[in-house]
Amino acid sequence: PPSRLPNVGTTIFTVMSALAAEHGAVNLGQGFPDFDCDPALLACVQQAMAEGLNQYPPMAGVAPLREAMAAKISTLYGHRYDAASEITVTAGATQAILTAILAIVGPGDEVIVLEPNYDSYVPNIELAGGVVVRVALQAGTFRPDFDAIAAAITPRTRAIIVNTPHNPSASIWRQADMQRLAEILAPTDVLLISDEVYEHMVYDGEPHASAARIPELAARSFVISSFGKTYHVTGWKVGTVAAPAPLTAEFRKVHQFNVFTVNTPMQHGLARFMADPKPYLDLPAFYQHKRDLFRAGLAGTRFQLLPSEGSYFQVVDYSAISSLNEADFCRWLTTEIGVAAIPLSAFYGDGRNQGLVRFCYAKRDETLQAALARLARL
Ligand code: PMP
Ligand code: GLN
Repeated sequence: PPSRLPNVGTTIFTVMSALAAEHGAVNLGQGFPDFDCDPALLACVQQAMAEGLNQYPPMAGVAPLREAMAAKISTLYGHRYDAASEITVTAGATQAILTAILAIVGPGDEVIVLEPNYDSYVPNIELAGGVVVRVALQAGTFRPDFDAIAAAITPRTRAIIVNTPHNPSASIWRQADMQRLAEILAPTDVLLISDEVYEHMVYDGEPHASAARIPELAARSFVISSFGKTYHVTGWKVGTVAAPAPLTAEFRKVHQFNVFTVNTPMQHGLARFMADPKPYLDLPAFYQHKRDLFRAGLAGTRFQLLPSEGSYFQVVDYSAISSLNEADFCRWLTTEIGVAAIPLSAFYGDGRNQGLVRFCYAKRDETLQAALARLARL
């Protein structure tokens, strides 16, 4: 049959996790923690289940969770969303991104994607019939190139997708960057899809530059969060999207026929657990320790480390070690050295090779040490 996505195969994350399992490699490829969540969060969910909160929730999500998110965003980023009409609970950020795109992008509409980019964006835009307009992040630093962004905007531009902290590069936007984007978008109708799933993984005392901090941007944005990342429960697949009421109304039109609702007891459990801000306020220190441990361990190798300002990723340049292309190097690293990584080429439309791979350091210290022991001879 004709394919809607002729260029899409199985995601690199699935491929590398399978290869890592097959060869008993330490899996620093696919981004997920190898440690469990806070037992108090499990107790909150178990309690909700035991209370019989197991039937369909409201279409937009249970009120306590939407209210907890509205309160959190207000405290952290200073923008007050209306929990009833502006916050929607989704099946992870993945569904939030697809649903936002389906809600606003039609055939021929252009969507700007900053490359390298997370792998779901491009197929999502293509499914909506939109046109992908790739704008490169700056070579070497992966910082936004605002002249290139401004130049890419046309009368057909419907939206731009921004992701900070950034997967895969681990770069972050500063507040001044968001301000600059607000200025560029001001004279246009371009909407912003702001993928902020790593919002609590920003290091060295930097604040997270949320689009919600800038009123003019918030007015045209879908701000997307993921409990999977924030609470170490990637398998639960629960996230949220915050957007002004008219955008939320369009979002929900698609959402109700996409998943309709997201599982009930997780939502109640998360809402209760959110009463304590400590878990997410502690996250920068928790992951900065892992980042520093991993970077220190690689210091004696021939890997060249790029900065890791945010997210739980570390990009390295391996060109002093091997001349293999990135996918082959990752395969070799997994099968011969016993550590899985992700090739940066997977995040580029043209699959270019730059001698860069991504490691995930959301792992127990012992796991990182086991990986470092294997990488030490490189
Ligand atoms: N966006 C980015 C940048 C991600 O890294 C991820 C997780 N890999 C997602 C979205 C999807 O998040 P979720 O697991 O909540 O669907
Ligand atoms: N977002 C995770 C990563 O970048 C993987 C999620 C997935 O497997 N789709 O590694």
